[in-house]
Parts: sequence; C-alpha cells; structure tokens
Amino acid sequence: MSRALRVAAPIQARGEHSGEHRWLEWLQARMDPAWRAGEWDSEALLFTGDLNSARTAAWPCRTPGCPTATRRPSGRCDGCRRARVGVGRSWAEFDAAPPPRATRPLQRGSCSVPGCEGDLHCAGLCFRHERARGKDRTEPVAAFIARARPLARAAECRVAGCDRESIARRGLCHFHNQRLHRRGLLTGDELAAWIAGERPRLGLHQFSVAGLPELLRTELLYALQQRDQAPPPLDPTEVRILLTRLAGAASLREADPQAVCESGGTVCNTATRGLFRGLRRHLDRAWAHYAGADPFAGDVWQVALLDLPINASRRWPATQGVIDFSVVEVTWLREIVKDWARTTRPCLQRLRETLRACQAASRALTAAWRAEQAGLGAGDFTRILEAISSQRRADGSPYPASHRNLMIYQFCQVIEYGRASGLMAAVPGPFRPATRHRVHDDPNEDELGKALPETVIRQLDAHRHLHGPAGRAGAIPAAGLQLMHQTIYQILRGTGRRPGEVVSLRTGCIEIIGGQHNLICDNHKAGRMRRRLPITPGTAQIIQSWQQRRKAGRTRHTAAVAVPQPAAARPPVPWARHTGLRGPGVQDLGRPDRHHRLRAARTRRHPGPVRTVPDHPVRAAPFLRPKAR
Ligand SMILES: [Zn+2]
Ligand SMILES: [Zn+2]
Ligand SMILES: [Zn+2]
Repeated sequence: MSRALRVAAPIQARGEHSGEHRWLEWLQARMDPAWRAGEWDSEALLFTGDLNSARTAAWPCRTPGCPTATRRPSGRCDGCRRARVGVGRSWAEFDAAPPPRATRPLQRGSCSVPGCEGDLHCAGLCFRHERARGKDRTEPVAAFIARARPLARAAECRVAGCDRESIARRGLCHFHNQRLHRRGLLTGDELAAWIAGERPRLGLHQFSVAGLPELLRTELLYALQQRDQAPPPLDPTEVRILLTRLAGAASLREADPQAVCESGGTVCNTATRGLFRGLRRHLDRAWAHYAGADPFAGDVWQVALLDLPINASRRWPATQGVIDFSVVEVTWLREIVKDWARTTRPCLQRLRETLRACQAASRALTAAWRAEQAGLGAGDFTRILEAISSQRRADGSPYPASHRNLMIYQFCQVIEYGRASGLMAAVPGPFRPATRHRVHDDPNEDELGKALPETVIRQLDAHRHLHGPAGRAGAIPAAGLQLMHQTIYQILRGTGRRPGEVVSLRTGCIEIIGGQHNLICDNHKAGRMRRRLPITPGTAQIIQSWQQRRKAGRTRHTAAVAVPQPAAARPPVPWARHTGLRGPGVQDLGRPDRHHRLRAARTRRHPGPVRTVPDHPVRAAPFLRPKAR
C-alpha cells in the first residue's frame, strides 16, 4: 500500500505541476511588456521608481545636495529629518549648511582612481584600493590616488539582482558579506540556500523580484500591472515590505492572508494590507477568467469579481460583499435584471437600488398571485409602481420622494431594457411604463425640517454683517474673510445647493440665456456635473459682485485658504466646517446635514427645469480658489 502511494504521488504532483504551468503561461501571455518603461527592468527584475513621476510614491529629498529618495509627503529623507532634530535647527538653517548624516545614495559611486572600475566603498576609493592603502594613513588620499593603478571590475555579487562588485572569497559584495557575517558563517549548501533567499540592497524607490519563485514573481507582476491602471501610485517600499512578508510563499494567489498580514515580524501597516488585498483581488479575478468561471453566473455574485465602480463619484472598483438576486422571487424578472446588470454594468450603488426596486415589484406581483408572465397587464404595472412608491424604511418612515422616484425610474429602465432586448416576449405589451410616474413629496411628511423656517432665514439675513470670523487668517484680512462668508451664506440661501457644491463653483459659473440666469454647478453627491440651475437675478448679482471683487485682486488670497475644496470622494463634512459660518442664529442650528440644507422658499417656488448638458473641459479656475500668482 505504501508502495502504491509512493508511486501515485509523483503522478499527482506532475498533474498539479502542469496545471500550475498552464496558469503561469496564461498570466505571462497577458503581461504588458511595455509596463513602466524606464522604471521596470525586466532583465535585472528590478523596479527603480522615477522620482519625478506622480505615479510612483517616491521623491528626491528636498535638502540641497542630499542624494537620497524619500516617500514622505514632507519631501525630506529620514536621515535629514533625524539630523535636523539632532542639531535643533530650522529647515532653512539646516538647508544652508546640512550637517553630515546617514544617506543612502540613489546611484552607486565609483572609485576615484582614474580608470578603476571598482564600486565606491569609502574615502573615495573602492574596497580593494582602500585595503591597498594599508594601515599607514599618513599619506594623503590624493597622493595615493595619483600613484595607484586602476583595477578591473571584480565579478558581480552572487545574490540574484545585486549589481555590486564582489569583494570576498564567497563571491559576495560588501553589503551582503556583512549580512552573512551577522547571520553567522555558513558553508556549502547552507550558504547557497542563504544566498538564494537574499535580496539586493535597494533604495526606497526600488524593489526587486530577483530570486523569487517564478510563479510568485509572475503573479506579483501581473497583479501590479493590473492595479497600476488606476490610482493610487505605486509605492515600491510597500511592495518591498510585502515581499518580505511573503518570504517562503510559492504563490501570491495562494499565500495565507493570516500569515502575510496579521502575524508579527516586519512592520505590516494598513497600506501593506491594502496592497496585498488589491493584488489578490486582481489575481482572483484573473483566476476566475482563467478557470472559465463566469462571475455573472448564478443568483449570487461576488462583488470583488465584477469590477463595478462603487458609485457615480467613486469610480474605483467595489470589493466587498455579494449581490443576491434571489430576493427577486419572480423568475422572469430576476433573469431580466441580471441580464440588465451584466450588459449595462452599472455602479454598485445603482445596482443595489435597482435590485431593491425589483424586489418590491416581485413582492407586489407575488402577493397578488400575478407571477405568471402571460397574464400581466397595465394594471399590474401600476400595482408595482404603487408598491415602490409606498416603500418605507425599516423604522416605518417613508423614503424621500427623490429616492422613490429613482427606484421607479430604475425599475422602468429594467423593463424597457427587457423589452428592447427581446427578453419579455411572453409578457403582454401593456405591461410597461405608460406615462412618466412621479411621486411628489407630501410637504407635511418630507419638507418639514428640511428647509430652514423663514423666520430663521430672516434672522440670519438681519444679522448678515456678523457672519464670518472676527480675526484675520494669515495674509487675509478679517474684512475679506467676512465678506466671503457672507457671500457663501447668500449663495447657500439663494440656491439651496450643498456647501460642497457652493465652494466648488467655478469663475464662469453664471450663464445668461434669454434673460434667464443659470448657475452651472457640480452635484458631487449624485455625480451629475455641470448642471444648470435657474437662479434669480439677485442671486446672480451676489455671485457676480464677488467675482468682480476677487478679480480686482484685493481678495486675491482670500478664498480657498479659508474654504477647503471638498474632494468629490471625501466623506460628507458638516457644512459649518466647510463654510465656517458663524454668528448668531447659525450656531443655534446645531449640526446640519442634508436635512438642513439652507434652502430658501424662493428657490422652492421657482425650481425651473434642471437639465444635464454634455461635459466640456473647464478652463476657468474654481470660483473660490485663490488666483494663481
Ligand atoms: Zn535627505
Ligand atoms: Zn578602485
Ligand atoms: Zn550583493
């Protein structure tokens, strides 16, 4: 029996091996040979980041003459930072006369003896010339350099990827020889194994995959190339840390996440974990593709494999959770919504909303015993729309009208899609949206508490001169700051826009067509950019007078220093922090959120048509940003 097992084992291993080989070939066929030209060296298996590229998280140290790279946002290398703290000087004083400090030069130096090919070791000499100088150091280095003979370059270090000159009998460079010395002297096979596990000495803008198992190396490079198609920039140091954590693993796809991310040892931070998970996700997706598994098959889809953006403003792929279509009990509807999702590839948020609408529709049909396609009619469609319109939150409160309209719209989109793609041949024609169905908010339900009461707005208007901080902010005088706050308040009041939308208005944000003033603004929350919003001439006048003042230069530096530009992807921040609005009345509003948008009654009465316009490049600087000098 043991004999049979022993015979069987190699066959199985061979089978595994050929499977692994096919996977390797699949990955290799999909590698980009032109990836990061100038940074990635496929011969030396070495990545050397371009310090001037925004796609690589490494920059030259800002200290004049410092040969080191840094990955710190401050732009200073660790050697300089420690040295400055040590001498207790300001950066200006430090830069004027940088003290000696530990630096790691980006480029290997060469020996000062003319014609010598040796690597710089110390005192301007290569290792062999430095030794040849002997113990007698009375002779000046310059004199030694003048009389020394140049030496041919010794063989390269035995560590894979290390391009330094070997100096010892074991064929190692000085750096690796020192490492071996600390490890304890090894011989024969032990030494060979130790060398195989060593990495070249790298700068923090570099990583090397030399000496890694071929599968691990290929998987890592494939996943890095995939990940590199979108931000964040590649951080070579994170890759180096990850490689240390992966020590001993033969495959990145099969590495144990617990061992890589959670166990102790070399520092493993959130960024390393994020890198590991991101690379694994690309490999999982590739594996599903390789194995022929369709991520869109079945009723439960793994979000990580779908490559759908999170929502309209966060366009990177969603990674968490599953989408369960089995909540739509009516089979034909479930198949249509799946086909719609597969074909149109909506963002995850839209897909979930649509699924919720279809779930409500499915429940309405099931409850009325109308799940069969053939018997459906216009009445059933109306029943569904009513069911969606009357949806409530878990706590029983109604959804806002905008949300219910969105659900209706999404459901109609799915039905129209089903009709257009011939998936609803068995459903009678009248089962379709006849007129545009819209829910209107019952003012007693939704509007109360959303808009500020007129009395409060009147109070705020009466004390408008008190808005804004009393003191100056840097070079910005208090008067300019207050005027800016007062303008922001008036725009908030006059347009009902969100604070983030107000502070991201652009200089050309007013448009007059046929005497009607329109405000062009970006709705970051819904991802609808450059929307036209009709505004009153009074509000337009407020905006224009601010623009003139800004142009006049007196408030040149006024704005954005005090009004941070909210990034579209940033989580919502209470508007008081955006605008810094202060003064009587405003503080009493507590922490307003979307239910407290500073909406004037005037805007509600005068909603006007809001239409999307095609995007076109914006050349003007944002409205409230300081003018570039
Ligand atoms: Zn430095
Ligand atoms: Zn030399
Ligand atoms: Zn070496």
